[in-house]
Amino acid sequence: MYWTTHIAVGALLGSRSRSRLSALAMGAISHPLLDTIPHYDFKNKIFSAGDFIIGLALLNLLVDDRDNSKIILGALGGGAPDIEGGLVYFHLISKRRAYFHKLFPHSKTSLARALVQESLIIAAAYLIVKNNQKKPPSNPAFVLPVRFKLNSVPLRPKS
Ligand SMILES: [Zn+2]
Repeated sequence: MYWTTHIAVGALLGSRSRSRLSALAMGAISHPLLDTIPHYDFKNKIFSAGDFIIGLALLNLLVDDRDNSKIILGALGGGAPDIEGGLVYFHLISKRRAYFHKLFPHSKTSLARALVQESLIIAAAYLIVKNNQKKPPSNPAFVLPVRFKLNSVPLRPKS
């Protein structure tokens, strides 16, 4: 499964968690469960690198100006198990030691189908996190100076 999908779902679960520890744990548990959904793993390492960068960019979009520790820890827990893939690729561990990806069966589908399915999962996770963030920010001092400045700009020159 794409790393970006793991980041999105991990961030969502983290945002709904009661503590930082459970955010991290929920993210990590979601990883092997998501991998049971038929998916397509990139063979091309350039695409894997692109997926990694898009995942980080998504995480950057998911945080706001409040305490984001649970979102970040959830995403970290969700994304971390794929470090195994990197370790296998660089021959730092053998493939049979990639335990995290042996917990549940991996099933495969076509690239096109995976892209559609996972884009929907990512979009849903993004929208839910953003919707929850619509509540007024806990620190209004961040907003007020901006508003004050805008209001103090005269709309018309004084005659
Ligand atoms: Zn994985």
